[in-house]
Amino acid sequence: MFGQVPKTDWETSVSTDRKNRMTLGLNCMVLQIQGKNVLVDTGVGSKDNDREKEALGLVPSRLMKGLRGVGLTPKDINAVILTHLHFDHCGGCTRLDRAGDLVPTFPKATYYVQRKCWEDANNPNERFRNSHRSDNFLPIEERGQLEMLDGDSEVFPGLHVAVTDGHAEGHQMVLFSHGGERIAFLGDIIPTHHHLNLPVISAFDYSPEGTLEQKRDIIASAEREGWLLVFSHGHDVKAGYLDRRGRNTYLRPVEM
Ligand SMILES: [Zn+2]
Repeated sequence: MFGQVPKTDWETSVSTDRKNRMTLGLNCMVLQIQGKNVLVDTGVGSKDNDREKEALGLVPSRLMKGLRGVGLTPKDINAVILTHLHFDHCGGCTRLDRAGDLVPTFPKATYYVQRKCWEDANNPNERFRNSHRSDNFLPIEERGQLEMLDGDSEVFPGLHVAVTDGHAEGHQMVLFSHGGERIAFLGDIIPTHHHLNLPVISAFDYSPEGTLEQKRDIIASAEREGWLLVFSHGHDVKAGYLDRRGRNTYLRPVEM
């Protein structure tokens, strides 16, 4: 998660286990827009994924429980917006039904993804092959539930996606304006609050220099316009606002 930044620079602020793993969230977001329920990202899902479970120490997905907690079932989801197609963001897009067949988890939803992202996920190079599993996304296309986006778009009134593809080809962040509030779900372009520090860029990033440029722009806009930042892999700190003290920017966390 810290790429080329030496552990000596971050070990006082992050604790790791004996396999050098830190605890991360796999956060999703639900928005209700003009009677439509919009889910942003789906986490790792509940399909059998022993390899990742073992290597990454995954715990069972709590997405369904979270949806029930806000009074929703999978059938109530009208749209799913995917920041990108790495397994930890789109694993919950599909599930196995009672017959053992792969089906979309949200039967009535349109799933939105950038075309560039879709094409890359279907032809990953050797470096990213393990991050893309077609059983997470091909059933969406087969059932006619896929809608591809070409660049920055307004998907619903007040809900924009912006291509921020340093992390992965066609990665997009989600921006939602409601009243005076602007909420940014950052996906993996700034996956945790630690990554607000510009040189902190994960080793998973496809173009670290691209990530650096995009982070600089995002942080400047977020500070200027008072965005509520939501971190897809935040665990203790899932969201917050930026405050400036002198030359430095700080995150003021909010509970989520
Ligand atoms: Zn991720």
